[in-house]
Amino acid sequence: MVNTEQLYHKFLECTGVSTDTRRITTGCLFVALKGGNFDGNQFAQEALTAGARYALVDDPAVAAQQPDGCLLVADALTALQDLARHHRQTLTIPVVGLTGSNGKTTTKELIAGVLSKRYITYATQGNFNNHIGVPLTVLSITDQYEMAVVEMGANHQREIALLCSICQPTHGLITNIGKAHLEGFGGIEGVRIGKGELYDYLASTGGTVFVNANDPVLTAMHQERSGFGQTVFYLEHNQPELVQESPVAVYRTDTGQTITTHLPGRYNFENMAAALAIGQHFGVSPAEAHHAVADYNPTNNRSQVVQKGSNTVLLDAYNANPSSMAAAIRQFAATPAKRKVVIVGDMYELGDESPAEHEALGQLIADAKFDLVILAGKDMKYALGALPKAYYFPDKFSLHNWLMDNPMTDTHVLIKGSRGMSLESVVPFI
Ligand code: ATP
Ligand code: MG
Repeated sequence: MVNTEQLYHKFLECTGVSTDTRRITTGCLFVALKGGNFDGNQFAQEALTAGARYALVDDPAVAAQQPDGCLLVADALTALQDLARHHRQTLTIPVVGLTGSNGKTTTKELIAGVLSKRYITYATQGNFNNHIGVPLTVLSITDQYEMAVVEMGANHQREIALLCSICQPTHGLITNIGKAHLEGFGGIEGVRIGKGELYDYLASTGGTVFVNANDPVLTAMHQERSGFGQTVFYLEHNQPELVQESPVAVYRTDTGQTITTHLPGRYNFENMAAALAIGQHFGVSPAEAHHAVADYNPTNNRSQVVQKGSNTVLLDAYNANPSSMAAAIRQFAATPAKRKVVIVGDMYELGDESPAEHEALGQLIADAKFDLVILAGKDMKYALGALPKAYYFPDKFSLHNWLMDNPMTDTHVLIKGSRGMSLESVVPFI
C-alpha cells in the first residue's frame, strides 16, 4: 500500500491524471475509480499499456498481477481526494471557489475571462465540479498558474465542505440559493445549509467572500457567520447598471460606457457583476474586465442565442430547475418580439415536489401569455392544468416530428429543460 506522501512523489513524475482509459496520455497517472457499471481496476492493465506511467488501484488482485506500475491503496477515490488536498497545500496562489444553485459555470467562465487579463489563470474545465472533478481540477493546477477558479457543485449536504477541504479556497462566491437538487438536499432550507458550507469554510479560515448585496438570502447567510478575512459586497453602489436585458444584456459602467454582451438576462448580469467585482478586487483594470465580459460567448447550450432562418432561438437546454426555469421564463416574457414560443422540458431531481413544481411552472408560463407553449416530458403533464392550450409531448421524439410538420417563421423560441431531456436536439427541427 502506498500512503499519500508516497503517492504524491509518484504523481510528480506524471504528466497528468486520468480516470478514463479512453483519455490516457503518455506518462499520466491513471486512477481506477468505481462507477455504477464499471470498476476502473479492470482497466488498469489497459491504461498502463496505453502509456500511463502508474495506475492507482484498490484491488489487491490487480496490483498483484501487475506489480510494475500499479500503486495499491485502500480506496482509489479517497486516495485521489487526499492526493489533491496534498497538492493544494503546496500551492500558494489565490483560489477562488464558487458554488450556488444556478449560474456557476457561466460565472466561473466570466471570472476566469476577467482574471486572465492579468494573471495566468486555471479554471475548472467544463463542468468538472463534483467529488471527482474537483480533485482532478486541483491536480491540474501546476506551478505556472498564478490564480485558480474552482467550480463546486453539490446535490447533498456536506459535499461542499468536502470539496472545500480539497481545493481550500482563499476567496469564495455563492452565486445564489435556489430550488435545485431539492431531492438530495431535502428542500430549499437544505440547499441554504449545503451551499452555506462554503461560507462556513471561508469564515473558519479567514477567507475573502464576495456577496451579492442585492440578494437577501446571501446577505443573511453572510451575516449569520463571522470570521471572514474580508467581505466584498457587489451590486451595492457605484456599480454597473443594466440598461437592456434582451435579447442580450447591455449595461452601463460606472464611468458611463455602454457594454453589449452575448448573454441574455438580468440573471446573467448578476453573474457578470460577480466577475467584475472579483476582477476589481484582484486589480484587473476596469477596461480589460469589461472587455472580457463583453467577449464571453457561451458555446455550451447555456444561454446561447442562435439564429435559425428568420427565427431567433434562445437555447438554454443545458439544465433546468424551478429557479432557473422561472428566471428564464420571466426573462423571455420581457423580451420584445412579434411572436414568442416556449419549448420546455421536464425539470429533474425534484422528488416529491415534482408535480407541484411543474404545476407552478405551468401557472408562471400561463401568466406570461406566450403565443404558443410546447411541453415535453413525463412530468410536464402537471403543467397542463394551467395551460389547456399547450401542445404536450411525452418525449422529445414526438416533438421533433411535430416541429417538422409545423415549421415556424419570424419567431423567438425559448428552449429549456433538464440535462436528461437534452432539448438541444430540437434546434435542427426549427
Ligand atoms: P450545473 O449545476 O449544471 O453545474 P451551473 O450552476 O454551473 O449548473 P450554468 O451552467 O452556468 O449553471 O447555467 C445553467 C442555467 O442556469 C443557465 O442556462 C440559466 O438558465 C440559469 N442561470 C444562470 N445564471 C443564473 C442566475 N444567476 N440565476 C438564475 N438562473 C441562472
Ligand atoms: Mg456547472
